[in-house]
Amino acid sequence: MKLVRYGAVGQEKPGLIDKSGQLRDLSAQVADLAGDAFAPASLAKLAAIDPASLPEVSGHPRIGSPVGGAPKFIAIGLNYADHAAEANMPIPAEPIVFMKASSSLCGPNDNVEKPRGSTKLDWEVELAIVIGTRAKYVSEADALNYVAGYAVCNDVSERAFQLERLGQWTKGKSHDTFGPLGPWLVTKDDIADVHGLGMWLDVNGKRCQTGSTATMIFNVPKIVSYLSEVMTLLPGDVITTGTPPGVGMGMKPPQFLNVGDVVTLGIDGLGEQKQTIVAA
Ligand code: ZN
Repeated sequence: MKLVRYGAVGQEKPGLIDKSGQLRDLSAQVADLAGDAFAPASLAKLAAIDPASLPEVSGHPRIGSPVGGAPKFIAIGLNYADHAAEANMPIPAEPIVFMKASSSLCGPNDNVEKPRGSTKLDWEVELAIVIGTRAKYVSEADALNYVAGYAVCNDVSERAFQLERLGQWTKGKSHDTFGPLGPWLVTKDDIADVHGLGMWLDVNGKRCQTGSTATMIFNVPKIVSYLSEVMTLLPGDVITTGTPPGVGMGMKPPQFLNVGDVVTLGIDGLGEQKQTIVAA
């Protein structure tokens, strides 16, 4: 299933994309795509519905984050060896974990704000995991049972805030609109091999990032299991899992985003995003 939330900011309704690409409304079936709506039993109920029986949504409404009210927005850093190299940082022995404010989540095609004082606004195409079931101390072998599905995420980053202003990366990762997610939450049964997905990102139509989830250092079961040892994962938590090479910080000379720039990105089977940079 391809699950979506559509409509104005803060008033999104649940929906799904049928096999022909038509958006259909799920408001009569589920209040919102949030929290326990991602539990296996809830997803099974939605999967049992004949999409043709659902009302078609006309026009092209805004698409929001496919996850409403995410309890946590967790990120894995330096999870691709070649990205760690371009960032001049060692390949980590254990997953690097940092938090993004959950208020930074936004729709896949919403404008991205350049924060006041920002000089080093950067991009990161990433595979995001959405948790379906409360997870504490789960094994790698069991970890996928706690995953609802996957989505494209742009882990938008302000490098000066992240790296030059002391303390944790969170400062440079949490501004409003720093977490475009979607367009869809694709349930895990629809992704044959989550570790074989091509990923790409363009800035103003020029290819910057090309990668594959095949080169992740820590894979999805490892990440879910590892995180469940250091915190309890809750239904609706979003985990973005690191970026392949080609970020602006790693270019020679470095290249950063300015107002008016357009970022497009996508992952095989998970859809595409497009953001325009605007002043905060
Ligand atoms: Zn990242």
